[in-house]
Order: sequence, then C-alpha cells, then structure tokens
Amino acid sequence: MAAVATPNELNVYESAEARFEVAADKLGLEEGLYKYLKYPNKEITVYIPVALDNGHFEVFVGYRVHHSIVRGPCKGGIRFAPDVTLDEIRALAAWMTWKCAVVNIPFGGAKGGVICDPSKLSNGELERITRRYTAELTEWIGPERDVPAPDLGTNEQTMAWVMDTYSMHVRHTTTAVVTGKPLDLGGSHGRKEATGRGVMISCDKALTKLGVKRDGCRVIIQGFGNVGSVSALLMHRAGYKIVGVADIHGGLYNEKGFNVPALLDWVYAQGKPLPEFPAGGTKLSAQEVLFQTCDILVPAAVENQITSQNARRVQARILCEGANGPTTAPADAILEQKGVFVIPDILGNAGGVTVSYFEWVQDRQGFFWREGEVNERLQDVMEHSFDEVVRYAEAHGVNNRIAAYMLAIDRVAFALKLRGIYA
Ligand code: NAD
Repeated sequence: MAAVATPNELNVYESAEARFEVAADKLGLEEGLYKYLKYPNKEITVYIPVALDNGHFEVFVGYRVHHSIVRGPCKGGIRFAPDVTLDEIRALAAWMTWKCAVVNIPFGGAKGGVICDPSKLSNGELERITRRYTAELTEWIGPERDVPAPDLGTNEQTMAWVMDTYSMHVRHTTTAVVTGKPLDLGGSHGRKEATGRGVMISCDKALTKLGVKRDGCRVIIQGFGNVGSVSALLMHRAGYKIVGVADIHGGLYNEKGFNVPALLDWVYAQGKPLPEFPAGGTKLSAQEVLFQTCDILVPAAVENQITSQNARRVQARILCEGANGPTTAPADAILEQKGVFVIPDILGNAGGVTVSYFEWVQDRQGFFWREGEVNERLQDVMEHSFDEVVRYAEAHGVNNRIAAYMLAIDRVAFALKLRGIYA
C-alpha cells in the first residue's frame, strides 16, 4: 500500500511541531520559552546563478535555516534534492537542535538545502552550485557560527568545496567550518561509518533492554546509501541477519539473510541496481519491504515512509530510525498501540552528528584521534543517551520519542534561561 496520507501529515515541519507541542506541554514549558524554541532563529534564501556545461545560465534556489544557537554554534547538513522545500529545511533544522541536545553536545541546530537534482548535474556544475551557495552564506557560517555537513545528495567532496570556498573568503584555511570532510582535509576517522554505527549501538541497547539475543536477529533496512549500507555491513558483521534491503530502485526480501559484503560490491563496486542482486530474494517495492517479517526495522532513506495509512502493517518489534523523519506524527500512536519499541531519529541517527562534533573538536585542536578512540567515545555517548531517553520515558510515562524531545527541550530551555534573552 502506498503512503497515502493527508498533506498535513506529510508536511515534515508539521510533524516536527506536533511532537514539539506534546513534549513542551508535558514539560509545562512556559509560554515565552515555548514561542522562542518553536520558531527558527534565522532563515536565509539564496538564489544561486550557475553557468551550466551547455553554456546557459540557471538559477538554483538554496536555503539555510538556523534553528537555535542557544547551546553553541548551529550544526546541520546540506541537502541537494529536487524536492527540497523551506518547510522541510525548517523541520530538519529544529530536529538538529533536539538531536544535539539529546546526545548532549554543544551545538544548536541548522540545515541547508539546494533545489537541484544531483543525478542530472555534472561534477563541475555541482562544484559551481556548492561554491556559489557557500559564498552567499559566508557571513553566516563558520566554526563558531554554523557548521554544515553532508546530507542527502552531498558528500565528502561537497564538504571539501565548501571548506575551500569559505577558506578563500576568510583568507586562511578553516577546516572546522564543515564536518564530514575527506580525512586528508581534517576529516575524522570513523565519521563515514558513524551514523550506521550509532544505529547499530542503539539496536544493541534495545535488544538488551528487551532481553532479545542479537545472533540471527532479523533486520530490514530501507535505504542503501551512507546510513543504510553502513548499518547493514556493521550489523551483518556483528551477527544480525539482514533479511530486507531497499534503495530508490526497489527492494529485496530474503528470510535466509543477505551476504552484505557481496551486495555492497554489487551496488558500489559494480554499479549495478540493488534489486537485480543475483543472490537476492523476492523483489518488492522500496516501500513494501518495510512491512515484511523482521525483528528490527531501520528506515534509512527519506521522510514519511511510515504513516497513519500503513503503520499497522509494521511487523517489527523494534523500529530504529536511521533517516530523519521517516515516521509521521499520526503514525506514532499506532506504533505505540502495537507495542513497537521506537528509537526515534533524534537518538537513533545521532551517531553522525556526534562524530561530527569530534571532527570539529579535532580540527580546532589540530590533533587527531585514532579510529578506535573515536568509536569508543561514540559508543559511550550513544549508550549513555539511549539510557537517558529510556529512563526519561519510564519516569514520565511517555513513549521514547516524546521522552527524547522532552529531554532535549528541557536542556535547551535550561541553557536559555541561564543565558537570558538579549534585548
Ligand atoms: P544517501 O544519499 O547516502 O542515501 C540515501 C539512500 O536512500 C540511497 O540508497 C537511495 O537510493 C535511497 N532512497 C532514496 N529515496 C528512496 C525511496 N523513496 N525509497 C527507498 N530508498 C530511497 O543519504 P544518507 O546520508 O544515507 O541519508 C539517509 C537519511 O539519513 C536521510 O534522512 C538523512 O537526513 C539521514 N541522516 C544521515 C546522516 C549521515 O551521516 N549521512 C546522519 C543523520 C541522518
């Protein structure tokens, strides 16, 4: 069944707001603080003129939203996608504020996006879009202001271009202006794997909490990009059985489990379509794969995959959100009724921003850590944050998502009260 839901349900900004309102209400947040935290700090729209390879000019629309600088500089990815909207970027910026607060790192939230289809643009065109977008934002980004990172449709190379452009404008190399950079430009060991590793750590914790064994535990992962493919590989190596996978081209289900290294080779080394994997199982649509039998479901692709129209069909015991916003607000109640243990996005995928924080720290120190050190510190942050969210949920009688929001809002509101409002 396709995700047919009301337009309001599918507006991610409204989805984010709905959760914020429930959590703020439960916390008894005073009205002034509620208003302060509900709205973004700043929204910037830029029109990016770019010379295309065919000699013509095109103007692309880009956004950068700063949601909060209360606990530190803003932090958040840059998304290149044809369906980017300001509302989506607003929601993602707010989620970054709550995510950084859940894992207790000293950042606020931001997000950026450019409306473009990277699959239809050459490398040169993408570089020119990135550089002009960065140049337009020079005064608003920086290690102490706003630190971008990769997201859908952007990668290490994009971050290298942002870093170089910013550095040319400020006249000195400033590696800490972005995270998710190549290792040779001040990137951190473990950053590429961090979000997937955080997903796995969260799943390990949930299994322990529920008293379920890890070996042979059946996992379905939607999305086979950075988050999905790394989650699949790490979980496969750790003894989980990956029984379902999907990317934009479609899905596969095989109850015997996939040979994930071979699947990675097929998709990445050979550049073949995921659904054509020769040792694959039953072909399904990328959405249908979500509703097959499994113990753990990891949506790690895009927003609005689990809605009021299909949440009843989720068969998993644990839902660990690798993507941002894969579940709509009305679907939360259905999952709760079904007793699904939800690890919400602002906790489940926070491994990425946690190691981004480590990257920023290392860049500013000019001293770099071994991969083992990075992974150990990440494990510590993820495990501790998981425990805090679950404890909060139990203490306040709310689900894990609302608990994560409450914990985050409480932390940001507390910092805001300490700072006071500058007038
Ligand atoms: P990516 O571009 O590397 O991969 C996206 C994957 O999703 C690809 O395999 C693509 O084919 C697939 N996909 C796209 N549309 C789909 C659809 N409709 N159905 C099924 N599959 C589809 O992106 P990523 O970095 O892996 O990010 C994935 C999600 O995780 C996004 O929501 C992103 O905001 C979130 N996230 C990413 C990070 C990170 O560190 N990369 C951190 C936190 C959250």
